[in-house]
Amino acid sequence: MQVLDSSAFITEYHTNDQTASIPLVREELEDEAFYRFDAMEGAGMHIHIPADGTVEKVRRAASETGDREVLSDTDVRLLAAAFELDATLVTDDYAMQNVAERLDLRVEPIARDGITEEREWRFQCVGCNRTFDENKERCPICGSDLTRKNPA
Ligand SMILES: [Zn+2]
Repeated sequence: MQVLDSSAFITEYHTNDQTASIPLVREELEDEAFYRFDAMEGAGMHIHIPADGTVEKVRRAASETGDREVLSDTDVRLLAAAFELDATLVTDDYAMQNVAERLDLRVEPIARDGITEEREWRFQCVGCNRTFDENKERCPICGSDLTRKNPA
C-alpha cells in the first residue's frame, strides 16, 4: 500500500499499488487535484485517520531529526498514516523523507515518474519530419527548427 501526499494528486502520480491518504490532504487540494482525490477515493483509495498516539510518536521522531518546525500538521499525519498502515510514503518532501527514515518507513519519490516521462519526449523537425532523441538547436539534416513531440 502507498500513502499519497498532496503533491501526488497535483502531479497525477500513477501507481498500480493500493493507495491511501488522509482527510487533511483533501482539504489542501484545489480544482483538478481535488477531483482526482475524490475519483481515487471512489475507486477504492483508503482514507485513514491516524491515532493520536501515533501522531505524537511521529512528532517525537521529527524533533529528534530536527524537522519538527518545518513539518505541517498534514505532513505529520501522513507519516503517522504510513506508519500505521505499514505503507510506503509517496512524497518528494525532504523533511518528510528524513523523518520517515527515522521511523523505518519506506519512501517513494514522485519525481521519478516525471523523469521517466521526460525521457520519452522526442523532437521532430518541422522541415523534413525526422525525429531525434535529444533537442538540438536546428535539424542537422535540413536546418529547420525542431519541435517537441509527444510519443503518444
Ligand atoms: Zn530536417
